[in-house]
Amino acid sequence: AAKSRGRGQIGYYAPEMNDRALERMRLENELRRALDGDELLLYYQPQVDAESGQVIAAEALIRWRHPRFGLISPDRFVPVAEESGLSLALGDWVVAAACRQLREWRRQGRSPVPVAVNLSVSQFHRPGLDEFMRRQVEEAGIAPADLILEVTEGALMSHTHQVLSAMANLQELGFRIAIDDFGTGYSSLSYLKHFPIDALKIDQSFIRDLPEDGDSRGIVSAIIALGANLGLKVVAEGVEKREQFDYLLSRRCTIIQGYFYSPPLEAKEFVQWLDAREGR
Ligand code: C2E
Ligand code: MG
Ligand code: MG
Ligand code: MG
Repeated sequence: AAKSRGRGQIGYYAPEMNDRALERMRLENELRRALDGDELLLYYQPQVDAESGQVIAAEALIRWRHPRFGLISPDRFVPVAEESGLSLALGDWVVAAACRQLREWRRQGRSPVPVAVNLSVSQFHRPGLDEFMRRQVEEAGIAPADLILEVTEGALMSHTHQVLSAMANLQELGFRIAIDDFGTGYSSLSYLKHFPIDALKIDQSFIRDLPEDGDSRGIVSAIIALGANLGLKVVAEGVEKREQFDYLLSRRCTIIQGYFYSPPLEAKEFVQWLDAREGR
C-alpha cells in the first residue's frame, strides 16, 4: 500500500506543481500590467458602532477586475505580489487610491468616514513609511486622522526597532493603527506594551463559531477584556449572524464589521449604502 501511495503521489503531484508555478508566473506578469492600468480597485466595507448606530470607518479592500478572469480576490494575488517584489508597488497604489477616494468624498461635501487600509509587511520594513504616508495625505489634501493603518502581528515581529519608530512617528502625525487578524500571529503579547496601537481587530476565525463554541467564546471574551484593559478599541470582523452580533454586544464589543451590516462594496454603492442608512 505504501508503495502504491508513493508512486501515486509522484505521478499526481508533479504536474500539479507545474500548473501552480505556471499560474503563478502568469498572475505575476498580469499583475505587473494591472498595476499600470486600471484593473485594480478598492471596495469599502463599513465598520459600525452598534451602540450609536454610527458608521465609524470603512475598510478598503483591494480587488482585481481582470478582463478575462473577472473579479480576483486579494487572497489569490496579494501573496503573489509579496513573493514577486510587487508588494511595495501594490501597497503604494492602495494608499494613493484610498487618499484619492477620500479627497473625492471631501470634494463632494461628504463628512468623511475614515478609511482603513491594509499595509503589508514589506511596507513597514521600507525606511520612510512615515514620511511617505505624510506626503500622500498632504498631496491629497486630507488629514492623517482620515486613515487607519491595519497591520498584522507578523509585520511587527521583525526589524522591530525600525518598525517601532515608524509607527511612533505615524501615530504622532495623527494616523491611527489597528492590529489586523489579532490572535492569529503566534506572537507574544509583549509587543502590545511597546507599540503604539489604537485598535485590535478580532480575527474572523474566532467569530465564525460564536456563540456555540466554548473555545471561541473564551478567546473572544479574553481579547475584548484585553483591549478594554489597555484602552484600545476592539473591532469584531466577519460578523454575519444575529447570534454572533448579540454575543459580541453582550460582551460589550460594539464595533462590528461584517456581512451582518454589509459586504465590501464598490465606492459608489458604498456611498449609496451610507445614504440609505442615513435616510438621505
Ligand atoms: P482582512 O484585512 O482581514 O480583511 C477582511 C476580509 O474578510 C475581507 O476579505 C472581507 O471581504 C472579508 N469579510 C468581511 N466581512 C465578512 C463576513 O461577514 N464573512 C466573511 N466570511 N468574510 C468577511 P477580502 O476582501 O477577500 O480580503 C482578504 C485579505 O486580503 C484581507 O484580510 C487582507 O489581509 C488582504 N487584503 C485586502 N486588501 C488588501 C490591500 O489593499 N493590501 C494588502 N496588503 N492586503 C489586502
Ligand atoms: Mg484588514
Ligand atoms: Mg482581518
Ligand atoms: Mg485576513
